[in-house]
Amino acid sequence: MRIDILTVVPELLESPFQHSIIKRAIEKKLVEVHIHNIRDYSLDKHRKTDDYAFSGDAGMVMTIQPIETLINKLKKERNYDTIIYTSPDGQRLDQNKCNNLSTLTNIMILCGHYKGVDQRVRDYLITEEISIGDYVLSGGELAAAIISDSIIRLIPGVLSDETSALFDSFQDNLLAPPVYTRPADYKGMKVPEILLSGNQKAIDNWKLEQSIERTKQLRPDLLK
Ligand code: SAH
Repeated sequence: MRIDILTVVPELLESPFQHSIIKRAIEKKLVEVHIHNIRDYSLDKHRKTDDYAFSGDAGMVMTIQPIETLINKLKKERNYDTIIYTSPDGQRLDQNKCNNLSTLTNIMILCGHYKGVDQRVRDYLITEEISIGDYVLSGGELAAAIISDSIIRLIPGVLSDETSALFDSFQDNLLAPPVYTRPADYKGMKVPEILLSGNQKAIDNWKLEQSIERTKQLRPDLLK
């Protein structure tokens, strides 16, 4: 998989790809992440990427030219399965969407900033819009990092135990069961007996029961 992220603040995207599971996925060449500075494609003499809104509202709007130039350059280099714009009014990201995105080969993600991008970018250049929740961020960079992280960890080989993503919350519409590690007794707070029994079948049943119970209590909507 290859992910191209288009931003006016590339610095915001440095850390999320330089540590832990995502860093190892990149090192293992399971995914390539390329961050592009939209400013580098501005034809304006001051490399401007935003301008005042025609509607007269306060706040700046990202201009179409540098975005269009960059998107077209990338599209000439390879075929993109999807060109995503991060937006609070987009389709809400969920595990099902992440699963679908994780099967793609080339993904482009455009991050908005300020008041967002000129509507013509959304009408003519992108293929889908994704929101990470009903709240407004100052820029799409954190949303792009979240979308990328949630799909990269689903690529086979990224997680050390290949099956472990299958047991995460929301897969099968169930929340994950509780997890415990050593010590079995910490100041009288004990790990459930069954987990120490060595009976894997009984443990698996317990895990499923716990998942169902948790989902009933915390997210009954998932069971519908
Ligand atoms: N005025 C816009 C919000 C602009 S916020 C509105 O009310 O809809 C600036 C940028 O941050 C957006 O262009 C978008 O790219 C990003 N952003 C903000 N909230 C987001 C969210 N919930 N999900 C994804 N991207 C978001």
